[in-house]
Amino acid sequence: MGPVVQQGRSEIESGASAAAPELSAPACRNADPGLFFPPYGRQLRHSQVTAAKELCTGCPVQEECLAMAVHADESDGIWGGTTPVERRRMRSQLARMQCGAELARSVVRDEDLQVRPAERPGVVHNLLRMGWNAERIGQTLKLTADQVEEARVAAARAQALHALMERHYPQGWS
Ligand code: SF4
Repeated sequence: MGPVVQQGRSEIESGASAAAPELSAPACRNADPGLFFPPYGRQLRHSQVTAAKELCTGCPVQEECLAMAVHADESDGIWGGTTPVERRRMRSQLARMQCGAELARSVVRDEDLQVRPAERPGVVHNLLRMGWNAERIGQTLKLTADQVEEARVAAARAQALHALMERHYPQGWS
């Protein structure tokens, strides 16, 4: 394993995340670091991203790797099968989901409240939990059935990521 990958992944191997007692060796152990990190000041090429992600897909510590990179807000390279842009998006989704409950309560109090597209998953998720059905949500937020469903699916993805982060950083990760 090259020095960059070795250094970056050593925390995973040493089980530094809270829920990682005994971990297998990362699949990138013997990989060229250039596959995961772009040269200084450059972007990773599409073919590199594809190849790195393929390696991550079969990695026994993918979940730990992703949790650690999201937790650390890693701004470079491929970690846990994600690019920096994807991780930034994930962190934003998680943050917005945290505001979802409060926004949903505001919607209940004031049904004319404008909900921005990025806030929809958190609001839809919480309104469903409050017992609202998709039709009522659609009418209230002025969304089509497809938009409500899209928000529900996005919320489910964000919830899965939230659960992953909780598993690895039960003391907090944001
Ligand atoms: S998930 Fe990818 S980057 Fe992370 S340790 Fe495994 S192979 Fe390396």
